[in-house]
Amino acid sequence: MDIEQELKKIKEEIISCKKCPLSKTRIYPVIGEGSHTAKIIFVGEAPGAQENRTGYPFCGAAGKILDKLLKSAGIKRKEVYICNILKCRPPGNRDPQKEEIEACVPYLERQIEIIKPKVICPLGRYSMEFLMEKFELKDQIQGISKIHGKIFETEVSSQKIKIIPFYHPAVAAYNPNMKEILETDFKVLEKFK
Ligand code: URA
Ligand code: SF4
Repeated sequence: MDIEQELKKIKEEIISCKKCPLSKTRIYPVIGEGSHTAKIIFVGEAPGAQENRTGYPFCGAAGKILDKLLKSAGIKRKEVYICNILKCRPPGNRDPQKEEIEACVPYLERQIEIIKPKVICPLGRYSMEFLMEKFELKDQIQGISKIHGKIFETEVSSQKIKIIPFYHPAVAAYNPNMKEILETDFKVLEKFK
């Protein structure tokens, strides 16, 4: 199977997925969007209200902030791939539960395997913890306030991957200081695009 076929298969599986209770309350699952050969993948937490209504990742308030951050780093949204840990919205945007993450992450793992990015950017704590653990960086996990914007190098089947965790863009919605920190952190991506 080629990249397009494999991603289409994942899409079909997610659309009919009932592996966790979020399937009962979601409107649309949010599969992911962007370049299928992206060098950079952003992994958020879970769809919010607007994403649930449309099926597109980061298309609401947090998405507007992400768009600005990408622009400030000179990155076009269509050149990267954007998805989430959870493909369906937790009701009321509550935190993802352990069982939901466990049920859903095989989709993300396959997306990463197929797209083969050079840089993976977790957005927020849940995504950072899952991805650093997955890529054998567990012993370097600290609070997101300590490791945001730092570059962690890892190797997967003799391919080098960089993991660069960021604060979740939503934290900047009501906090201009956070916006500045995020903008500074995103600049590190200029050299990887
Ligand atoms: N927050 C996320 O983590 N993901 C989205 O797609 C939207 C908001
Ligand atoms: Fe399936 Fe993931 Fe949606 Fe749960 S959140 S129903 S595991 S796609």
